[in-house]
Amino acid sequence: MQDSLFSSEHQQDNNLKGNQTNPFIIQVAVPKPLRQIFDYIVPAPINNSTIQMGMRVLVPFGRQQLIGVVLSTHQETNFALHKLKNIVEVIDHTPCIPDDIIELLTWMSRYYQHPIGEVYSHALPALLRQGKPTELVVENAWQLTVQGLRVETESLGRAVKQRLILDYLKSAMAQRIPHTPSQLNQALDNWRDSMKRLEEKGLVEQVQPSSIFTSAPAIAEPLHPLNSEQQHAADTIRASLGKHQTFVLEGITGSGKTEVYMQVILEVIQRGQQVLVLVPEIGLTPQLVERFKRHLNATIAVLHSSMNDTERLNNWLAIKSADASVLIGTRSAIFTPFKNLGLVLIDEEHDLSLKQQDGLRYSARDVAIMRARNAEIPIILGSATPSLETLYNVEQNRFTKLELNKRAGDAILPDIHLLDVRSQKLENGLSAQLTQRIREHLERGNQVLLFLNRRGFAPVLMCYECGWLSHCSRCDAFFTLHQKAQRLRCHHCGNEQPIPTQCPDCKTNGLHNELSPVGMGTERVEESLAELFPDKTILRIDRDSTRKKGELESKLEQAKDAKTDILLGTQMLAKGHHFPRVTLVGILSADQGLYSADFRASERMGQLILQVAGRAGREKQRGEVIIQTCHPEDPLLEDLQHHSYPDFCKDLFTEREQAALPPFSYHVLIRAEAIDEMAPMELLQAARQTTNNIEASIVEAVEIYGPFPAPMTRRAGRYRYQMLCQSTNRNSLQKLLHYWLPLIESLPNRKKVKWSVDVDPQEMY
Ligand SMILES: [Zn+2]
Ligand SMILES: [Zn+2]
Repeated sequence: MQDSLFSSEHQQDNNLKGNQTNPFIIQVAVPKPLRQIFDYIVPAPINNSTIQMGMRVLVPFGRQQLIGVVLSTHQETNFALHKLKNIVEVIDHTPCIPDDIIELLTWMSRYYQHPIGEVYSHALPALLRQGKPTELVVENAWQLTVQGLRVETESLGRAVKQRLILDYLKSAMAQRIPHTPSQLNQALDNWRDSMKRLEEKGLVEQVQPSSIFTSAPAIAEPLHPLNSEQQHAADTIRASLGKHQTFVLEGITGSGKTEVYMQVILEVIQRGQQVLVLVPEIGLTPQLVERFKRHLNATIAVLHSSMNDTERLNNWLAIKSADASVLIGTRSAIFTPFKNLGLVLIDEEHDLSLKQQDGLRYSARDVAIMRARNAEIPIILGSATPSLETLYNVEQNRFTKLELNKRAGDAILPDIHLLDVRSQKLENGLSAQLTQRIREHLERGNQVLLFLNRRGFAPVLMCYECGWLSHCSRCDAFFTLHQKAQRLRCHHCGNEQPIPTQCPDCKTNGLHNELSPVGMGTERVEESLAELFPDKTILRIDRDSTRKKGELESKLEQAKDAKTDILLGTQMLAKGHHFPRVTLVGILSADQGLYSADFRASERMGQLILQVAGRAGREKQRGEVIIQTCHPEDPLLEDLQHHSYPDFCKDLFTEREQAALPPFSYHVLIRAEAIDEMAPMELLQAARQTTNNIEASIVEAVEIYGPFPAPMTRRAGRYRYQMLCQSTNRNSLQKLLHYWLPLIESLPNRKKVKWSVDVDPQEMY
């Protein structure tokens, strides 16, 4: 059947070629959730000889005008010419998206089963999506005039906003330093009109900032000499420059992976090529960028989510034009066009933040590997705890593993103890033994790090009279008690309310602890530590304590300070930061990950525990790690106790192989959600029915499970169901989806339901 379809299409093409009157036709991807591309005519006044693939064009679409991207300039169409519309204008003079990125995005659209136009719009910086020119946006900066420096703020009378701006510019930090609009936006709201008034009064002036990028110092600081393991890794990778190979750099914490990265990057830069460095969201700190700048003597561009649109465009352009030779960025930096890319590097390749969890659900790691393969350049996947998928690829000889097993300098690995807390009374999450060890380490003048992956005061509030629990009204989850903010907050939907003064059910007054917190969050542990160690300084680092811009960086600085005795926090503390004075790490509970509905939870728990453990004793002093658990006999925990990530993974591999779970098979998760309780289930059932219209051999190559309710069935007021497709063959999955998704899209009731396809899902929720 398919063959005949193709041949008739072919005939149609020939017919058209025969009698066409030579209009210039282009194929355009438009930013709409549609799987096809659209043909347009380039009308006569536009010089069609300049149109190339990858240029943006303004096109009519329904009653709208949209900015699309030219994907080809075939002179052919399957449609009657009178049905085609004319483009409005060509926006670019040169392609905004080069050929290699077009190739990558086309592959992504196919592999992730995502509408092509949306993939393209996802890959462009926001300003280019809006049709702005591909030019650096040089915004004038503002500074005080001499007169502005002298004038008293009071003289501005009741012009409150102007006084505020003047005060800000006069603050010791800011004097006579030009402030870019983006900097001002961070400090002040709606400042533009008042700034104009101040300019009219001659108190401030506009100046051109000298450069958008701070370039590197003239002389790079030399790298630390590499030890033999590091040198071997660097040499092996350097020898493969100019051809494609995937390296897994597995280095225990403190083994100096970054030194290896920089040694290789230096070589690439010296060859006149550029480097893309992808890091997890939380790993991209000003300190990391500083460190790269110091050693590489190169102009470095940066891309991450908290930059504004102008900053993002400028950095994107700097890489495209090769004005910058290194790009350090989070996930979406993978789409940046490079003039001459020579190496891709992913730090913490196992990190969940490399996978986008909504919209275009791609893995930046997997896309990066594809990009390096297309470009015939090497890629490095670095981690202390590589993902099972990556290790499986090593076993299959697809990737090459390089190991760093020695800690830099004289540092040795910490001792890890499992502390059985089954028969113990915990005081606010701390066993007597752990408290004693904390005391001993503090008495020696050392620093202690405590890890609890749960923020807030307590995960639930309970009425001891009637058993009422603080359920979120919109989710199958509890409200977390936030004592300091005096709020109940849902961590899943953002819903919040004041802490009730009486029980909503039995109306018992909560004055005498009838309403009490159950369980432990970082805020509560902080409170009890303050009572146990009144003369010690405690620093809590979690999402609540680092909400403001720059707060995480300043807290991490503070953490290294000799005055800070106890660090307490969630996984924000675990990742990549170096705290040289920490000798004791306490993990308050290891049990969250052991028995979870998600089969990846134990892998994540192990990675997290080893990462936290790696914070202990990184310099001269031997560290100690204490893990509180109710399951000390668990074989996975025993592996971790011996620092044996390979054994830990071996046990997980056995588990996964027996259950035929990834990496021994591949998954696609089809999710559906709606406010109406029945709708998602009905849609998925109907979707499953449609497989009857697909050739049986294609359907039978894939196991389809469900539909069944998602582990958290109700979230943010919506009911969620899912269907899991599993196969040992990626192509079988792709083939099924290719025929199946159009059938689901044409189901009558799908509009009421939000549904999505997740290829290689990383979370089952
Ligand atoms: Zn009650
Ligand atoms: Zn909620």
